[in-house]
Formats: sequence, C-alpha cells, structure tokens
Amino acid sequence: MTEETGRARDAHDRWVARDAARVWHGFTQMSVYADNEPVIVDRAEGHEVIDVDGNRYLDAISSLWVTTLGHHVPELDAALAEQAARVAHTTLLGNGNTATIELAEALAPRLPVPDPHLLFASDGAASVEQALRIAFQHWHNRGVGGRTRYLALGGAYHGDTIGALSLGAGGFGTSMLDPLRFPVVRAPGYDDPDWAIGALDLLERHHGTLAAVVLEPLVQGAAGMHVADPDDVRRVVDAAQDLGLLVIADEVAVGFGRTGTLFASEQCGIAPDLCCVGKGITGGYLPLSATAVAPHVYESFLGPDLSEHTLYHGHSYSGNALACAVARRHLELIDEWDVLANVNARAAELGELLDRRIAKLDAVGAVRRRGLMTGVELAPPADGLRWGRRVCAEAVRRGVLLRPLGDVVVLMPLLTSTPEEIERIVATLVEAIERVAGSAA
Ligand SMILES: *Cc1c(COP(=O)(O)O)cnc(C)c1O
Repeated sequence: MTEETGRARDAHDRWVARDAARVWHGFTQMSVYADNEPVIVDRAEGHEVIDVDGNRYLDAISSLWVTTLGHHVPELDAALAEQAARVAHTTLLGNGNTATIELAEALAPRLPVPDPHLLFASDGAASVEQALRIAFQHWHNRGVGGRTRYLALGGAYHGDTIGALSLGAGGFGTSMLDPLRFPVVRAPGYDDPDWAIGALDLLERHHGTLAAVVLEPLVQGAAGMHVADPDDVRRVVDAAQDLGLLVIADEVAVGFGRTGTLFASEQCGIAPDLCCVGKGITGGYLPLSATAVAPHVYESFLGPDLSEHTLYHGHSYSGNALACAVARRHLELIDEWDVLANVNARAAELGELLDRRIAKLDAVGAVRRRGLMTGVELAPPADGLRWGRRVCAEAVRRGVLLRPLGDVVVLMPLLTSTPEEIERIVATLVEAIERVAGSAA
C-alpha cells in the first residue's frame, strides 16, 4: 500500500515499466507516461475495472466512450464464445458471412438512414473515410461535376486518419499536419449559439461545390461536449438536403443510447443520407464500425461488373464475424433490458446532482450535458495549471476512472449505471475539484 493513495502498488511499477518499454500509447506523452500513474487493467467485473494489484475503479468514462452495458457481460461473453465456435472471420470482399448479414438486418431498421445498406469497417475514423469517399464518388457516378468539397463544423472531431482529420477542426496538436489536410468549408461549431445561422449562410454561398455536409448530431464530443439545439441541427440538415446535398451524420460518439435515444438523429428529427456508427456498436467489446448509406446513394454505385461505378474500397477485417455477433446481441440487450429508460432516469439524476453540487463551484466554469454525455469545464485561475489532468488523477486515486479533454472533465457513465454509481461519480468529482482548486489557492 502507498500511504498517499491507499492503493496496493506491488505489481504496478513492474507492469508500467514493461508497458512503457514497448507500447506506444495514443494521445499520450510517453516521456511522462509512467509518472502519470496509469491504471494497468488486468480484468474487469461489471462496472469496475481491476488493476494488476487488485484495485478497483468505477469506469466513469466508459473506456473512452465505447463501453455501454458494462465489462465482462455474461450475455455478450456468450455471444462471442458461440460465434468463435462457428467462425471468427471471413472476408466480405465478394463473399458473405451469416453473422454480418444478421447484424445488418437487425441494425438497418433502427438506424436514422432510411432503408440503408451497411459498409462495415473497424474504427470510427474508417467509417468516416468511407462516408467521405462514397459521397465524393456518388456525384462522379451520377455525372455531376464540381461537387468536391465538404462543409464541416468548428470544433468538429471525426477521427485521426487524414480525411477525418481534414474534416476535424484541429486542436490536439494537429496543426502541423495542415499541409496534408484537404480544405473544407468551415461553419461555426456548437460552442457558438449562432452556429446554425453561420452554417445556413455558408450553404447558401457554397452549395454548388459541396459533396456533403458532415456533422455530429446534437453533441460535439471531443470539442468538449458542446451541445446543439436539436431544432438548429434539423434546420441545417433540412436546408442541405433541400439544396440536393448529401448529409453525413457522425453518430460514432452519440450513437447507441448515449444521449437518451438509440441515435441522436432521432432527437433532431433528421434522416441523414449517410450515417457513421462505431464506438458503442459492440458494447465496447470489439473494434467494429459501419457506414450506413441511403438507397439513392447506394444505387448510384450500381453498374456493369468491374465498371468504374464500383466502390473500390474495403478493409481486411470488414464485417468481422465475432464483432458482428457481439453487436447483434448487444442491440438485443438494449431492448431486453430497457437500457434507454435507464439512461434517461440516470441522466435526470446526474443533471440534478451536477446543478446542485458542481455547477456552482468557483472552480467550475460550465456544465454541459445531453443524456449521459457530460462535460464539466473547469475554470483555473491561470493557464498551464493542468487542472483537468489533476482533477482526474485525484478521482482515479479515489477509485473513479476519469480522463479529461484539456480542462473539461468528461463524465461518460455506463448506460446501465445505478443511482448509487451516479452519486459516487459526482461526490468523487466534488472532492477531486476541491482538492485541486484548494491546493491552488
Ligand atoms: C471517436 C470518434 C471518431 C473516431 O472513432 P475511432 O474509432 O476512434 O476511430 C469519429 N467521430 C466521432 C464523433 C468520435 O467521437
């Protein structure tokens, strides 16, 4: 046990040393990785992950926004084992797999894109790349010239591959990649209350050159949990579609119940032409993503065999059978367990607790939330104090796993959280903020 944290640390340092010696962690400065007390997970039970010394942490970030029902869920474990006993993976290039077909059939009527075809990949960024490419080639296939650009929003984040990064607004130290980015028409982001007016104006001026509009419906997650009025989202999407443009909804973060409906597009009342899903699709079990495509777009790719109309694009693990089997069982469980009702009940409690205990703290600048996606923006008295990092470290020491976006503490509780867990997350955050803000004073 260390005196400071009360946590057992016998195996920790050894595993961290082995880790740092060989594993390069994303979005992580490796020179200080070991000093930042990383949690080395050995296993998990329900809503807690357990480290190499047996310490338990409540997963309050849903393992970076992917885990939905919990870890080590017996029903999902069983779906995975059953599929493994049949076949783990076969290619979707020119051939099919029953697990993929069954998932596509189950998912299609639930997605915001009407009557979609699904192109599977493994990561959210890949699903966005696919959407960009499909939108671009759609106009080519239809013989329409000049529609070669995209409209994206300020604060946008769509993943880290070069195309997705081009749509993204930057930040996270990516400006040195600017020479690699393709230019986009950049509307304001959800942090600007007049973002929709700005977007509508740009649509009016540039629609003739645009292939598609890309947006995260309702919440811009990585921007720091900025929330849009659903009517504004609908106005912009309707205007784009009235102008004949394609709309790509990036539901990678907001999809699968996170905001209180299965997809955030439902709350906005939009029917996008393409939709990207990832993160929660397998409940956080396996890498899987999909691009859903409306019939009028899909059909522009039909033509003679080996013709130019074909989508010459695909990934080796597209439609992986293990991932699809888990995703299908996950979708069933969302219904069987009435998970969305739990999300809405816990979201109401979380909102009330944040209002009462967090929003009024001097150290807090703003609280933004939709469903169980929450950003608590800290208000440090000076730059460079790394409050976001330090507050989350204090929470981790108290057994609640958090990770910030800069000085925004992200709360992303599991969709099956209990009232007690929501209480614990907020109580721990209060303690962590008071510790950090108090020590700064
Ligand atoms: C996380 C995220 C992505 C990228 O997904 P990866 O699986 O990390 O590649 C894309 N769009 C949004 C909105 C996201 O939050």
